[in-house]
Amino acid sequence: MSAKYPSLSPYTYCADNPVKLVDPNGEEVIISGEASKDFFKEVRKGAKEFGISVKIDNNGILSAKYRGKGPVSKEGQLFLDAVNDISVKVEINAINNKKGTDSEYMFGGAFGGNELYGETIDGVWINQFSVAKQTVIPSELKDMDEFYGLPGRTSLHEITEAYKGAKIAMSENVISSAIGSSNPLYRRAHSGAIPQSGPINRYCYDAQDNPTDCDSAKWIDWNAKYGVNEKNLKTTKVY
Ligand SMILES: [Zn+2]
Repeated sequence: MSAKYPSLSPYTYCADNPVKLVDPNGEEVIISGEASKDFFKEVRKGAKEFGISVKIDNNGILSAKYRGKGPVSKEGQLFLDAVNDISVKVEINAINNKKGTDSEYMFGGAFGGNELYGETIDGVWINQFSVAKQTVIPSELKDMDEFYGLPGRTSLHEITEAYKGAKIAMSENVISSAIGSSNPLYRRAHSGAIPQSGPINRYCYDAQDNPTDCDSAKWIDWNAKYGVNEKNLKTTKVY
């Protein structure tokens, strides 16, 4: 890079590119929020299944080490990449499910989109990195993962989904917003992540308890497995 841009100096690079610069400093996955301890517990269980031990420091920064025998699995490697890749910072906001708040209207976790930082010189990115955001509700992730018998698995899904989204955003030079299933980048991040422990299905009902479209629903049920009332994990009343 320095051979290609011989005149580059820290001064000119900031003057030419007034973008916000943040130094990647090792905070690759950072967990915060009222339920951060609960989320870490789930991550620890999930990582253990892949032979990985994890630690969290006082600032919520996650570290991970593979301690298994033989080569690490593809999923395990993806999780290690999310934790160690200095070009992506994953910010996890761990919350409790509370009545009357946004957490009521989602189950388990939500893709929060990502931002791109760095600079371009003649259209070439240098020092590019991304911050990806993800909201999680550890108590719900725990419920579904226990139901499917894969402890902690969906917590690793949430981390690697945010990471994958950021990697796609970086390679295609697009920023992804925090929107749901209609967001094509989100769909790709979701399917490229470590798979969830199992499906969660949402069923929406009107005030007379008849099935309806979810925009006009009065009740929403989140069920595990396929089919109505297979295993109810959460019911939300829409006010
Ligand atoms: Zn997902």
